[in-house]
Amino acid sequence: MKFEEIRKVPDYDGKKIALRGWVYRHRAGKGVVFIVLRDSTGTVQCTAKGKEYEKAEPLLIESAITIEGTVKKDERAPGGYEVQVDKLGIVHAAERFPITKDQSKEFLRDVRHLWVRSQPMAATLKIRSTVFGAIDDFFRDRGYYEFQSPIFTMTAAEGGSTLFEVDYFGKKAFLAQTWQLYAEAAIFGLEKIYTIAPSFRAEKSSTSRHLTEFWHAEVETAWQDFDALQKQGEELVSFIVQRVLEGHRAELEILGVDIKALEKVKPPFPRLTYKEALEKLEKHGMKVPYGKDLRTKEEKKLCAMYGKPVIVTHYPKEVKAFYMKEAPGDTVLGFDMLVPHVGEIIGGSERETSIEELEKRLAKEGETFEDYGFYMDTRKYGSVPHSGLGLGIDRVVQWICGLDSIHEAIGFPRTMDRISP
Ligand code: ATP
Ligand code: MG
Repeated sequence: MKFEEIRKVPDYDGKKIALRGWVYRHRAGKGVVFIVLRDSTGTVQCTAKGKEYEKAEPLLIESAITIEGTVKKDERAPGGYEVQVDKLGIVHAAERFPITKDQSKEFLRDVRHLWVRSQPMAATLKIRSTVFGAIDDFFRDRGYYEFQSPIFTMTAAEGGSTLFEVDYFGKKAFLAQTWQLYAEAAIFGLEKIYTIAPSFRAEKSSTSRHLTEFWHAEVETAWQDFDALQKQGEELVSFIVQRVLEGHRAELEILGVDIKALEKVKPPFPRLTYKEALEKLEKHGMKVPYGKDLRTKEEKKLCAMYGKPVIVTHYPKEVKAFYMKEAPGDTVLGFDMLVPHVGEIIGGSERETSIEELEKRLAKEGETFEDYGFYMDTRKYGSVPHSGLGLGIDRVVQWICGLDSIHEAIGFPRTMDRISP
């Protein structure tokens, strides 16, 4: 018999079926063992009696088994169906599983290699897979090329304090914090490019939204101005959410997500300048001195006011990277997209094209052209307006899945205090 997926059980009412998977729950009653069997597609209750009772009775949870039996509609069974077992095969009788109910988050991280099979983790990882696919489709459908930049690099792009240094045959090299400097060179050949790759940042404090190794979707577009960039950001995020809603009602329910709130994620998103954001925050009792970057709690507060993603533009020059194009009032054509519960998920900007302006900005930060190697050549040979953004995929998953911490949004998180499992 061919093994069927558990989610197909209702199609077999009254018929024979063969299933395989793991024992999710196990309870021995009088003359009958109830096993809830799990595979990657769902769960179903199975009942073993007689000869099969003897085999089923000693099994511990997470044992791997095969079952042949008959599907019966049964109101009392979770999901409305049960399988009456004719034949039970033991593939592997598990040892006592170390994870029981109500264990601390920290313990579950220690045994993440076992916890990845839990319902909430599996639901999250399925949604995560869809998010990655959606990003690819979004850009490819719009004529973008996927372009890969190196992970070993010689320059900083997002500030020296979060660089991971590696010994590169006796030379000092760094793990990439972003693809951006390479992307700005590559648009001269390809014009519209995107990537999905890990970025590395030595985040020295442990927060609920920082990993040291995170998955970064980045895009860079020649000839695209600041307004079109913001539109692209909100369309991308709405597209991702739409895809998840289409394919993952069941997983969103397992995670207890507010589906109605996700359904409201449609362009356009409210846009406000940094200055307007400060005014709003002050009205709500949060005073931020002009020139200070917004902190997570302030970002969350702004989103809470609108109940949906918000775009904040025109930050003061001094809080943003040197490559962002200058705008009136010592601000930049840069934006952050903020979402409820998480805060920033996207940082983007139109790029500065003036080589003099770039030089001035670098000097202010105590750096020079030489520190940026090839980058200045991108402004010497046919420099054109262009813009791009970076989206933190793990944060997007954290937000969509309603997770307290980014650690729950990825299979094996990397943070300052965790590099295993
Ligand atoms: P933050 O202020 O939260 O540290 P950032 O300003 O350093 O973010 P950018 O340099 O703009 O972030 O990076 C683009 C996007 O990459 C961010 O909007 C965020 O979604 C994601 N990101 C940045 N750093 C991390 C990190 N350490 N872990 C997970 N995602 C990150
Ligand atoms: Mg940062």
